[in-house]
Amino acid sequence: MIKKEYGVVGCPVSHSMSPDMHNDAFHHLEINANYKPIHVEPSGLENAINMFRAVGLSGFNITIPHKVKVMKYLDGIDELAKEIGAVNTVILQDDKFIGYNTDGLGFLKGIQEEFGILNNKRILLIGAGGASRAIYFTFAKETNCSVDITNRTIEKAEQLKQNCKYNIETNILTLTDAEQSLEKYDMIVNTTQVGMSPEVDDIPIILSNLKQDVIVVDIIYNPLETKFLKNAREQGARIQNGVSMLANQGALAFEIWTGQIPDAKRMEKIIIDKLGGK
Ligand code: NAP
Repeated sequence: MIKKEYGVVGCPVSHSMSPDMHNDAFHHLEINANYKPIHVEPSGLENAINMFRAVGLSGFNITIPHKVKVMKYLDGIDELAKEIGAVNTVILQDDKFIGYNTDGLGFLKGIQEEFGILNNKRILLIGAGGASRAIYFTFAKETNCSVDITNRTIEKAEQLKQNCKYNIETNILTLTDAEQSLEKYDMIVNTTQVGMSPEVDDIPIILSNLKQDVIVVDIIYNPLETKFLKNAREQGARIQNGVSMLANQGALAFEIWTGQIPDAKRMEKIIIDKLGGK
């Protein structure tokens, strides 16, 4: 049987942990396939997609800075990815490239596996960029939670709310207003890059007056514990870092490509090992 080829397309892409995660899963599940990093400059995306068609690449992940632009070169886009306005996973199906977005579902899966089903919870999302869009639309579509959004540029948060066609209760807050009303929330999620290495001393908002049993999540995975998460942990919150989202979005992409469910915990371990964690 011919070996299937997959990859992650980005710029830069050499740091990506996806090749380790996926190649291990292919090996573990005895699937004859290979996954590699594919560096594509912003100006070269269209040519690259044409080349992938010509060689019959079976599927690929797509990361910064191509997640939005790639959409115009695909033959079809899944409904949720269309709403999010970005694609992170592409599969070749009947000679057509079809795009999906597994970021939001990967996030939700990681949360539910660790903390259980979220029923009617009040959630605060910090940030209104690509990752926030994926999480917001997924929560709007898949859960009955209310999701408030705070962002440095408040107009972007307002736009996110306006673009959502699902029935969801959402308030838009300034960062200062959010800091003053944290006791309302069952879960607080940082989706900004504030606190990411090397800017490890930065925090997106100051945490105080947290609800008892609150869940605080930072989707950053480098460092494994941001200052924001450390502050939350020291105040008694249950915490989760971005490893779980990263592993689960990858696991869902793997399932789209192969129809098989990989071991997401094994993927998490590979990421943590690569980041030098325990
Ligand atoms: P993005 O689209 O560029 O959005 C960036 C967000 O961060 C915006 O809301 C932006 O606010 C905010 N921001 C940036 N610098 C800020 C600052 N100095 N102060 C306050 N807010 C600031 O980026 P993204 O793709 O959503 O990615 C965001 C983070 O999520 C990155 O750290 C990325 O690594 C991580 N991520 C993790 C996973 C995972 O699987 N764990 C997946 C995707 C992304 P403005 O609107 O005001 O500019």
